[in-house]
Amino acid sequence: MTIKALFWDIGGVLLTNGWDREQRSDVVRRFGLSAEAEELHERHKLAAPELEVGRMTLDEYLEQVVFYAPRNFTPADFRAAMEAESRPNEAGLALARDLGQRWRMYSLNNEGRDLNEYRIRTYGLRDFLQGFFSSCYLGVMKPSPAIYRLGLSLAQVSPAEAVMIDDRLQNVQAARYVGLHAIQFVSAEQLREELAGLGVE
Ligand SMILES: [Mg+2]
Repeated sequence: MTIKALFWDIGGVLLTNGWDREQRSDVVRRFGLSAEAEELHERHKLAAPELEVGRMTLDEYLEQVVFYAPRNFTPADFRAAMEAESRPNEAGLALARDLGQRWRMYSLNNEGRDLNEYRIRTYGLRDFLQGFFSSCYLGVMKPSPAIYRLGLSLAQVSPAEAVMIDDRLQNVQAARYVGLHAIQFVSAEQLREELAGLGVE
């Protein structure tokens, strides 16, 4: 079976993670919130899924998770610090840009709408991804099998014609369960080799 489409995770593959554990602890420290880190984490755990499936805006999330008490900084300050945590993975981006010239490619990623769009715009992801199958638009998150099936339907390819690229093993296994080829991203070089094994060069 020939591969017809590539689905890309973004955080941990093309860019750093958007708002994962390391990004949160870094920002929490910089705003002097370390004493409240546990409270923030508990609040994050409840609000984050709603943010990522697009039922909560970033402002609403920040109101619940950070601004539940008076602060000496503004939501705009905090948001800017969140955005500054997003950095490119240059090797992953270079490989994706190259492949994008010959292959049909989409994102298939978990992210809230505001941060997703900041990251897409800032790192030119529209230049090589033809569509964004993001949890915030689809209303369902990885590793639910439903998001992989939606991605396949929206791209109009069968599971055997698709490759999922993701850094998280649980998501890779979920994609395989649905029948997609799936590669766990470790490095751009390793990804290039594994893709070549599927005839994607
Ligand atoms: Mg990831």
